[in-house]
Amino acid sequence: MSPPVLDLKGQPALVTGASSGIGLAVAKGLARAGARVAVNYHSDREGGERIARAITDEGGTAIAVGGDVSREEDVERIVAETVAAFGTLHILVANAGLQRDAAFHEMSLDDWRRVIDVNLTGQFLCARAAVREFLRRGREPEVSRALGKIVCISSVHEVIPWAGHVNYAASKGGVMLMMKSLAQEVAEQGIRVNSIAPGAIRTPINREAWETPQAEAALLRLIPYGRVGDPDDIAKAAIWLASDESDYVTGASLFVDGGMTLYPGFRDGG
Ligand code: NAD
Repeated sequence: MSPPVLDLKGQPALVTGASSGIGLAVAKGLARAGARVAVNYHSDREGGERIARAITDEGGTAIAVGGDVSREEDVERIVAETVAAFGTLHILVANAGLQRDAAFHEMSLDDWRRVIDVNLTGQFLCARAAVREFLRRGREPEVSRALGKIVCISSVHEVIPWAGHVNYAASKGGVMLMMKSLAQEVAEQGIRVNSIAPGAIRTPINREAWETPQAEAALLRLIPYGRVGDPDDIAKAAIWLASDESDYVTGASLFVDGGMTLYPGFRDGG
């Protein structure tokens, strides 16, 4: 067996929501592995351009592409701009997501819709545009064994119910079955579709869960491995899922969560 090669040499990649947190780390990680990266940002143009510049300063290749993943015309343009810059697309990391938390009886229809629109419909729109580009381009076996690779950033809340966050958990549960159904549908065309389901990762989305020692101590009770995750923990998994080293993996949710899904409440015997 040859040694593992996590080399994405020149593969065009799109990472959505890449101006902060996990998306930022994934964009930088893919670029360090050799991919040419389109850094999608929503409203933080300066942030998106700064990340793209940081990648090129390190010797990588990147462009910044603005747009809202919940809007069909934006997603079509984001992918068109990526293809115009890099010739095609081989890797999509559908990462953009948000929370709008509320007690269920106080949750507005707007809060429900916005979370479903970005976290679930956004993944549908991005994955559809990517699949269309993979099929248009056809096989490039010298680039990758797969016709294309899609990595959905889901959450442990695709399986863990989450009171006060019903819209978010519903969106991530939806991502799980969208991903698996799509993986089943396009496997015969050579497209691999997987999810990464992060546990608690230190990013702006969950700042209040880790920024004080008391909050972090409470959070750590849910994490058997004993530390809060870093965005790079997710980036490393994304590089592997985008590479030929995971070529026989499709339709999988890879939990990168320090054991959060291992029912930590049962550690003391239940
Ligand atoms: P974050 O808030 O730093 O990143 C979310 C990114 O999505 C931001 O850059 C934001 O601008 C972008 N975004 C939001 N709406 C958008 C839209 N309509 N169009 C384009 N981009 C949009 O938080 P993060 O933790 O890095 O979150 C990234 C992903 O990871 C999300 O899907 C989130 O649900 C998921 N996740 C995070 C954690 C965690 O603990 N941090 C755990 C599980 C899952």
